[in-house]
This record gives sequence, C-alpha cells and structure tokens, in this order.
Amino acid sequence: MSRVAKVESFILTVPRDEPYLGGLRPGEEPNAKGYFVRKKNKTVYPVMDRSVLVRVETESGVVGWGETYGIVAPKATTAIIDDLLADFVVGREPSDASTVHDDLYNLMRVRGYTGGFYLDALAAVDIALWDAAGRLVGKSVYELLGGCLRDEIPAYVSGLPKPTLTERAEFAREWQGRGFDSFKFAAPVADDGVVAEISALREALGSDARIAADLHWVHTPDEAIDTIRQMEPHGLWFAEAPVATEDVQGLAQVAQGVDTPIGAGEEWRTTYEAKLRFDVNAVSIVQPEMGHTGITQFTRIARMAHERGIQIIPHATIGSGVFLAASLQASVALEGLVGHEFQHSIFERNHGLITEGIECSEGAYRIADGPGLGVEPTEELISKLA
Ligand code: MG
Repeated sequence: MSRVAKVESFILTVPRDEPYLGGLRPGEEPNAKGYFVRKKNKTVYPVMDRSVLVRVETESGVVGWGETYGIVAPKATTAIIDDLLADFVVGREPSDASTVHDDLYNLMRVRGYTGGFYLDALAAVDIALWDAAGRLVGKSVYELLGGCLRDEIPAYVSGLPKPTLTERAEFAREWQGRGFDSFKFAAPVADDGVVAEISALREALGSDARIAADLHWVHTPDEAIDTIRQMEPHGLWFAEAPVATEDVQGLAQVAQGVDTPIGAGEEWRTTYEAKLRFDVNAVSIVQPEMGHTGITQFTRIARMAHERGIQIIPHATIGSGVFLAASLQASVALEGLVGHEFQHSIFERNHGLITEGIECSEGAYRIADGPGLGVEPTEELISKLA
C-alpha cells in the first residue's frame, strides 16, 4: 500500500518588492509578463519569485513534496510532469526514487532531453519521492542517505542587494556582526567592477573574511584569467562560473591559469555534465543546485566530486524552501561537503511558506528534524499554489 497513487504539480508565485540580485539598473525594464534582462549577464529574470512544486500521495495517504526551479516559463515544467511523467510514477514505490529517476531519464534520453526543463521536472518528482519514502518509514532523508555527518552546515552570505558599493560593504559588515565570516558577491550588480567590489568588501570585512566572486559566465578564458588575477591580491576565496557554461576546455584553462579555486555547477543537472568538467580538472569546488538535480543526481554528483578531491558547496536559489530543505538534508549526509550558499533575501521570504525548523544563524545552517525533508508546505503556501 505504499505505491504512489497520485502526482500533482503546482506553480507558486510570490510578489517581490525588489527583484532578485537587487534593483533594476538603467535600461532594465520589465516587459508585460514581468521579465527583464540583466544587461551584464544577458540573462532573463522575473520581477516576482516563482517555483514549481510537486505533491505525490501514496495509496496509504502518505504525502511527499518536491520542488524545482520555475522562475521562467514554469508551465513548461508542469506540462512535462502532468502530461508525461505522472502516469509513469503512479504505481511505483517511493523508496525506489533513484531507479524511478533513471527510468524517467531514459524515456527521453535518445531524443536529447538530457537537461533543461525536462530534468527540472525530474528533480521535483525525485525530491517528492524521497520525502514520501522517508515519511513512509518515519526516517529523515539524511537517514535514508546513510546518516548525519554534521550537526551544522557552514553557510556563506550570498548576494548583497544594495544599490551602491558603500551600502553593499556596509550590509556585508552587518552580516559579519551576526556571526558570518564568508561572503560572495555577484558581478552583474558590481557596478564599479569586480576589482573595486572585492577591494571595498575586503576593506570593510578585514583580512579573515572569505570573499568569493560569482562571475556569471560572461568572460572568455583569457579575460577570466586576467580578471581573477586582478582580484587575487585582495584575497579571493573562489571564483565562480568564469566562462560560458558550454566552454569546458575554457573552464579548465582558467582553473590552470590562476591560483584561486574555481567553482561551478549550479546549472548542471546530472553526473554526465559534472564528469565532463571533473575529467579535465576544470573545478576545485562543485556547486550542485538541488532545484535542478533532485536528491538522486545531487548525491551522485557530490560523491563523484568527493572521490576526486573536489569540495562540495551547494548552490541556493529562488524557491519556497522545499528544495532548500532537500539540499540541507543531503548536505548533512555527504562526505566532502564544506559549506552551503545562504541567500538571505530568499531564505527570509520562505518564513511562513514551510513549517518551522530550518535555521541559519551564526554562520551555519541547522536542519529540521522529522521524517522526510523535515519540513512541509504550510497552509499559507498551499493557498498560493495554482
Ligand atoms: Mg552563481
């Protein structure tokens, strides 16, 4: 009686006063659908927060929740789930989540649907199955993954959404005052340039703070090496996503051309993408994003990384808190995990959307105890689903 009886998908939309990564720069006007393009990374963002949630229910009435990335065109993902995946998940055992993932992957593999929206849909289903699998036996996801290796997950403060460099440096200092020692800034909103940004942050935070730079895939390999070299005298913890995501050799070239560790991986969905980069020593830090990978691929990527001596520092992006909970559950169970991104501007907004239990304070996350993901959507969140 533990087989899946029903799979449903939903779109969550939560208005925002200020867009993700901070206010709009000149020329960044939202269109009628609420999308705008950040000029410096040519990437589309919505003015609101959005994600896609999946609810599975077993024959015995146990419910599991999953979530994936849904900030743009979320109906593409819900259509894949509703039209295609749901009927292949009904009748399966939640405890077979990894096998179900591989079976669903195989359905579209030879047609080249090995990433993007298709894998996002798989990620949401996968998280919901792992959640249900835990709830069926009264165990947390980390117990299903082999047990808890750490009570706390070191968290770095990511995104300093203030309009000027002086205010961003001051804002970082506020977080330092709350017990955080690690930070990352985003190049597309470093209006005075990345060297000025790290210089001002270093001055504000002192020599012990760790400061990373997210370069948002905008550079050629030579430019990236030059840019990172210019930041290095200011003490750069790691440089993230320096070149175009497709440029595997270029990423390796950057990694060999600088002293700073290179991080990447937030846009990858599977071990196939990870292996291409790992095999050419292109990264020292891997940053899997649970909203894109699901628990199955997240743990596979992390284990592959650990075998190769690559550090694991998961990414955190816009969601309700459900896939963040999944990321933290996996993060306490994985060897080689050294930290986790903390997007305070998203985390604080999740308050009220998921049940209490996850904390991030004094530089570290602490997870919620309880079966499955340890948290679940509140009535407030459920009332917002469409
Ligand atoms: Mg990033």
